[in-house]
Amino acid sequence: MTRPLRVALLPGDGVGPEVIAEARRVLEATGVALELEELPWGSAFWREHGRMMPEDALEIVRGFDAVLLGAVGDASLPDDVTLWGLLLELRQGLDLWANVRPARLLPGIPCPLAGRGPDDVDMLFIRENTEGEYSGVGGRAHRGTSAEVAIEASVFTRAGCDRVVRYAFEHARERRGVLTSATKSNASRYGYTLWDEVVRAAAADFPEVRVEHVLVDALCARMVLDPASIDVVVASNLFGDVLTDVAAALQGGLGVAASANVAPDSGTPGLFEPVHGSAPDIAGQGVANPTGAIWSTALLLEHTGHADAAARVMSALESAARHGPKTRDVGGEASTREVGEAVAARVADAT
Ligand code: ATP
Repeated sequence: MTRPLRVALLPGDGVGPEVIAEARRVLEATGVALELEELPWGSAFWREHGRMMPEDALEIVRGFDAVLLGAVGDASLPDDVTLWGLLLELRQGLDLWANVRPARLLPGIPCPLAGRGPDDVDMLFIRENTEGEYSGVGGRAHRGTSAEVAIEASVFTRAGCDRVVRYAFEHARERRGVLTSATKSNASRYGYTLWDEVVRAAAADFPEVRVEHVLVDALCARMVLDPASIDVVVASNLFGDVLTDVAAALQGGLGVAASANVAPDSGTPGLFEPVHGSAPDIAGQGVANPTGAIWSTALLLEHTGHADAAARVMSALESAARHGPKTRDVGGEASTREVGEAVAARVADAT
C-alpha cells in the first residue's frame, strides 16, 4: 500500500480558515489517502506566544509532504511581523525558490477586459521566490531625523537565477514553447543584467523554446492589451509579485488565483496558498471565494504525484465556474461553503 499523503493545513488569519475548510473538504473528496494535521499558527498564535509560529516550525513542516496555507495578516499587527514571521520565513527557511502561479480565466468567470475570454487568458508565471528585491538585506540609519537613510539591497546570485530560469524553460517546453523573461535591465545595471545573461546561457539548452526579453512595464501593458500573446513568464521576486496581481485581476480577481511555492527535485515540502490575503473586509461573513484555495489544492496534488486527482479537482472547479454555484466576487450569490460542497461533490462523483 502506498503511504498516505501527509499535508499540514495552516489556515492562518481572516478568511484563511474559511477557505481552507473548503479546500480540505475537496482534498478529502479526491479519495487520495491522506494524513491531515492543522497547525494553529498565525496572528492568534502571535498574541499568545509573541511569535507567528513555534521556534521549531521549519522542522515540524519538514515532516510533511506539503503545506496548505490560507492567509496571514492582521490589521492590528504590522505586515512585516506577519509576513516575515510566517510566510517569508517558510519560503526562505525551506528555500522554496520557485513560486508558480497559473493565471487562467475559467469559462464562466467574468474577465475585466471587454471582449476577452478564456482563450485570451492562459498564462503561467514562474517567480523567483527567495532572493532579488525581497532578500531582506539593508538597513536604516538616523531614524526619525531629516537625515534618515534607508537602504534596501536586491540580491541576485547566478545560481539563484539559473535554477528558476531553467525551471521556467522546462514549463515553456511543455506548453507553447515561448518563454517571456521580464526585467528592467535598461534602468538597473547589475542584478537584471546578470538575470538576462543567465537566461541567454540557459536558452542554449532549450533550443525548442523561443525566448523574449521584455521590460516589466511594457509587459504590464501587453498583459492588458494582448494577453493571448503571453504564455510562460519568468520574473524576479518583486516583478513576479506585481505581474501576478495583474494576472489575478485578468483571471477574475484575487479570490480565484492560486500559487505553489516549491523547491523542485529537493524533497522539501512545498507550500501551496491562494494568492489573496486575509481579506479582513469580508472575514467571518462566509462569502470569501474558496476557488484560489481549492485551485492551490490541485497544485499541491499535482506537485506531490497525484496528477489524476489534481485534474479531477480542476474539472470540478471549471464546472462550478461555468454552471455555479459562485461567490459574489465572481458574479454569484453563493456562500464559501456552498461552493466548497459543490466542488467536493463533483470531485467525489468523478472519483
Ligand atoms: P492582507 O493584508 O492580509 O493582504 P488585504 O485586504 O490587504 O489583506 P486581500 O486580503 O488580498 O488584501 O484583499 C484584497 C481585496 O480582495 C479585498 O477587498 C478582499 O475582500 C478581496 N478578496 C481577497 N480574497 C478574497 C476571496 N477569497 N474572495 C473574495 N474576495 C476576496
